[in-house]
Amino acid sequence: MGDKDMDNKELDDSYEFACRLDQQDRLARFREEFYIPKGKIYLDGNSLGLLSKRSEASLLELLDSWKQFGIDGWTEGNHPWYHLSEQLGRKLAPLVGACPEEVIVTGSTTTNLHQMVATFYQPQGNRTKILADELTFPSDIYALQSQLKLKGYSPDTHLIRVKSRDGRFLDEERIIEAMTGEVALAVLPSVLYRSGQILDMRRLAKAAHARGVLIGFDLCHSVGAILHELSAWEADFAVWCNYKYLNSGPGSVGALYVNKKHIGRFPGLAGWFSSAKHKQFDMEHVLAPAEAAGAYQIGTPHILSAAPLIGSLQMFEEAGMENLRKKSLDMTRYMMKLIMKERQHMRVEIGNPLEDHRRSGHIYLEHKEAARICRALKANGVIPDFRAPNGIRLAPVPLYNTYKEVWEAVQILRRIMEEEQYKQFKNERGVIA
Ligand SMILES: *Cc1c(COP(=O)(O)O)cnc(C)c1O
Repeated sequence: MGDKDMDNKELDDSYEFACRLDQQDRLARFREEFYIPKGKIYLDGNSLGLLSKRSEASLLELLDSWKQFGIDGWTEGNHPWYHLSEQLGRKLAPLVGACPEEVIVTGSTTTNLHQMVATFYQPQGNRTKILADELTFPSDIYALQSQLKLKGYSPDTHLIRVKSRDGRFLDEERIIEAMTGEVALAVLPSVLYRSGQILDMRRLAKAAHARGVLIGFDLCHSVGAILHELSAWEADFAVWCNYKYLNSGPGSVGALYVNKKHIGRFPGLAGWFSSAKHKQFDMEHVLAPAEAAGAYQIGTPHILSAAPLIGSLQMFEEAGMENLRKKSLDMTRYMMKLIMKERQHMRVEIGNPLEDHRRSGHIYLEHKEAARICRALKANGVIPDFRAPNGIRLAPVPLYNTYKEVWEAVQILRRIMEEEQYKQFKNERGVIA
């Protein structure tokens, strides 16, 4: 389905049309590779992606290499553990538009952000502040606050949070205006986790550099969802997790990217896995860092938590990120059109960008009783996620969701709203939302 179909006011909202879209879908075969929770329409792959058979197999394979080889698993088997972080970094590089040596699989989003800020935030003269935004993910703010304190600065005066005009979106122009001579470092999301707005990373990186500011991005909500060109954009660094769109399992190992012009910069938080691989076991007390993103690792890699990524990335390679992005846009566009067509029954606001180039992989609906609407959706077999205070995120994931599921989820939502079914549920979030 192209843009034209969606622009057509006479959107075919029949079940048959949804079935036809599935029949024409060239990525449809990947659904069989996943364990889909029985009887559920899983639209939460932007929070925790589903387990695939290939990830299960790669995890079991690495478990088996431990069984077979004991300590020799570091160098033996199909995926020697000693080189696994680098091997996976090379496989991830195309998804973020980086060179192979610029990416390493390590840590978590938040620990990697600590590492990057410890490495890149070097206050000097008047340039002592860090620039962020008021809509960013809380963990990033906590990390920036603690890094400022470690350097002896108060976050109250030294952490700038660019304001949003409407609580949904950020304006690149305003971010750029805030890149003053007092700012040393900017840390921004690629995609806002609530509204799904994509920030113009190319423009922001260019503006930052023109103003003498280093810039890093948090890609949690964009990796595996949209295309990136981090090297071409000259982003200084980026961090992300692999358990959302990349389906590598709860708390699986994250990743980071460092632009090659910075390779050689001494890691702010060093450890023996920061070492050049051939020097590490010399056991010297003087660190010789790797000449690659691997220098920003700290300790022994979490092999079993990285293992599912091996299988998962094979599918991204086979499906092709461009094809996945195209299907994702088609699905979110289709979902929005169905919702808009039922607007008078729905009484929800669409809070994500409507334009393709600004919209990431999920739809964001706003309603003041979003918490209990999410509970009602779950009770009806649709898995969304609630984001305080008033948001419902719905992510049709191109690897395993179908157009039919999108169609059904919208019908269920309409019923819940029309019949006010949601009023049977408490309007409060669960412990995990
Ligand atoms: C999911 C997410 C995180 C999570 O950080 P972890 O360290 O992996 O727990 C951080 N930032 C953003 C924007 C996220 O969406």
